[in-house]
Amino acid sequence: MTEILSVASEIFPLVKTGGLADVAGALPAALKPHGFAMRCLVPGYRSILQHLGRPQIVWQEKDFFGGPASMRISRAAGLDLIVLDAPHLYGRPGTPYQSPDGGDWPDNPLRFAALAYAAYLVGTGALANYRPQILHLHDWQTALAPAYLHYAGAHHPKTILTIHNLAFQGLAPLSMLAALRLPPAANSIGAAEFHGQIGMLKAGISFANRITTVSPTYADEIRTPEHGMGLDGALRYRAEAVSGIVNGIDTNIWNPETDAALPVAYGVQNRQGKTQAKRALQSQFGLEARPDAPLFGVISRLSHQKGLDLLLDVLDAVLDHGAQLAVLGAGDADLQSAFLRAAERHPSQIGVQIGYDEKRAHLIQGGADAILVPSRFEPCGLTQLCALRYGSIPIVSRVGGLADTVIDANVAALQARAATGIQFTPVTAYALRNGLGRAIALFKNTRLWTELVTNAMRAEVGWAGPASAYATLYADLLNA
Ligand code: ADP
Repeated sequence: MTEILSVASEIFPLVKTGGLADVAGALPAALKPHGFAMRCLVPGYRSILQHLGRPQIVWQEKDFFGGPASMRISRAAGLDLIVLDAPHLYGRPGTPYQSPDGGDWPDNPLRFAALAYAAYLVGTGALANYRPQILHLHDWQTALAPAYLHYAGAHHPKTILTIHNLAFQGLAPLSMLAALRLPPAANSIGAAEFHGQIGMLKAGISFANRITTVSPTYADEIRTPEHGMGLDGALRYRAEAVSGIVNGIDTNIWNPETDAALPVAYGVQNRQGKTQAKRALQSQFGLEARPDAPLFGVISRLSHQKGLDLLLDVLDAVLDHGAQLAVLGAGDADLQSAFLRAAERHPSQIGVQIGYDEKRAHLIQGGADAILVPSRFEPCGLTQLCALRYGSIPIVSRVGGLADTVIDANVAALQARAATGIQFTPVTAYALRNGLGRAIALFKNTRLWTELVTNAMRAEVGWAGPASAYATLYADLLNA
């Protein structure tokens, strides 16, 4: 087995704030069949320490970024963990990044530089009997590790940096250079310098052997000024090293054949349960019980990124055709109240519930005919992957991972029986209106719609495909 050390600031099911945790938690099991043994180095937050059985201390230091620290190996939730226990950095209440009052911890750069430094130490042989051949680093919290290797003159292990969210870049003032254990040379444009500050993600982009992001289209987009969030130049400079691999979903949790949130289970062969889920959804959202009305679902954070303001602009395209809309979401107050007002005006056709509710999300996936994801940008997106699995046709903007995971029902794709959804472009209200119009027309053609649903439900959305893409990347890197 080839040893890979995955390094992440969160990991499902132990600690999660977003999709990064899902990826970090899913990769070890998915890569095992490919001959890769993956251990995960994570910070010793209280929530992680309490899950450890009898951990074995394999390394310790008295003054590690300002206090005593140790590394412990342990197995928890099916994962092989190396936990960096440093109470002065991680022994705090709140989320991994924020205090209970919601503000970022001011010493976050130091807290995660320590995590990256621990990865560097493990990579260069600090633990007896364990030497990974690749460090797989996730996001800015771990992105200094390739810089530490570079300045130490170490060519091994090889490094991969996966960017899950380019918006978080880990910026610190230049005065912290030494505290972050970086040499003065790191203050240069080809290294960690970012507009007069230290950019931790920037350092990873400069020095990692390979850079991946969570879809091929997003990998292209982030090299443009429009989507590069100030790092497009650095990413263009490393263009040869950049690629995209889409995420998978957990097909045990998202499985209409076993989903307890549905009134009756269903599968691609027997779809009776989907009709019953639609009825239940209409009832829960106060919509008229009409099996013939196309029912659009939304499950989303309500933020500018998700483009749902565009949907508000074209509600008439839903209402005039007798269609229905069920919205579950939370976020911007303006969007929340605009959707609530629309539901008040048209209660039989629009139902809105504000909040985060996993169970209800499953019911919408099961009961909707189509799921809307009109994002302005979307690194990968999971909602459309779940929608495919539940045979709820995704209607998506053609950006990022949405472009890569949904096959538009154009004439050629319909003829080839390959279409799984509807894409619209550009991301405007006008184009969304066209997309909705196309969906309603297709819905009325029962034969074509049934075929679309079949194709969608048969699409591969689990981790098998992504894991083999990562396995190929690891193998390439080891042979480079
Ligand atoms: P992002 O991470 O940008 O919010 P993704 O599509 O990658 O978007 O993942 C979001 C996940 O959270 C999806 O599985 C989506 O269904 C789920 N989700 C979003 N909003 C809600 C909500 N209000 N209630 C339940 N699940 C939600």
